[in-house]
Amino acid sequence: MGASIIELIDLTKKYGDFTAVDQVNLSIGKGEIFGLLGPNGAGKSTTILMMLGLTEPTSGRVTVCGINSTTHPVDVKRKVGYLPEDVGFYDDMTGLENLVYTAEINGFSRKEAKENAQELLDRVGLGNEVAKKTGKYSRGMRQRLGLADVLIKKPEVIILDEPTSGIDPSGVRDFMDLIHRLSKEEGLTVLFSSHHLNQVQQVCDRVGLFKKGKLLADIALNDLHKDEHGLDEIYSQYYEEGGEKA
Ligand code: ADP
Ligand code: MG
Repeated sequence: MGASIIELIDLTKKYGDFTAVDQVNLSIGKGEIFGLLGPNGAGKSTTILMMLGLTEPTSGRVTVCGINSTTHPVDVKRKVGYLPEDVGFYDDMTGLENLVYTAEINGFSRKEAKENAQELLDRVGLGNEVAKKTGKYSRGMRQRLGLADVLIKKPEVIILDEPTSGIDPSGVRDFMDLIHRLSKEEGLTVLFSSHHLNQVQQVCDRVGLFKKGKLLADIALNDLHKDEHGLDEIYSQYYEEGGEKA
């Protein structure tokens, strides 16, 4: 593993008496694809919001690219591309216009913005849809454009919160392959959350299993392939014991 890009130390978030994220320790290296796996309500989105400096930890610490997200959220925002569960676009603008807009507000010249936007549309498989307004996009197309919109600011890290929810199964496979390819081509560090074991298994180098705010296990999938216990088996140990299914 290379230098640590995302580091969580005893990270905790309480809402009143309820602990949403409970003393999580985690270190994600440069170029890794890390999957936060866990059922709804496990604390994945809350953890991500703390990484981005969008919500404050109750205790503990989080750094991204060596920057404290809580005290320096604006600096973190420059390094990280974030795709929320529901990404918003200007629906009366085309995909190309939306990307150019994002690039320009991130400091690129119009010429660079246009070149990069066109190239990214091709890479995410929307090259033939340049004239279509995003209001007419399907969910899968919106997620692809969302990925392009995250990449156009040339981030060092991308954080995707349940990026495949609402996409049909064949679209999901394409989307995950795309994330994998982009990460491996550019050395991009990727963290994404999901409640689907198979999606995480498809592309991740490492997986963190979340349940009730706790990180129960941190598993390198490479090591696992040599082992007779698959991730499915480990997953069911954590999530299905006592009839509690994910
Ligand atoms: P996940 O993304 O894994 O589905 P979340 O991080 O969204 O889980 O939520 C974890 C828990 O924290 C849930 O029980 C949720 O209801 C609770 N929670 C999240 N945000 C808030 C909030 N702003 N106020 C109170 N409780 C919250
Ligand atoms: Mg969530």
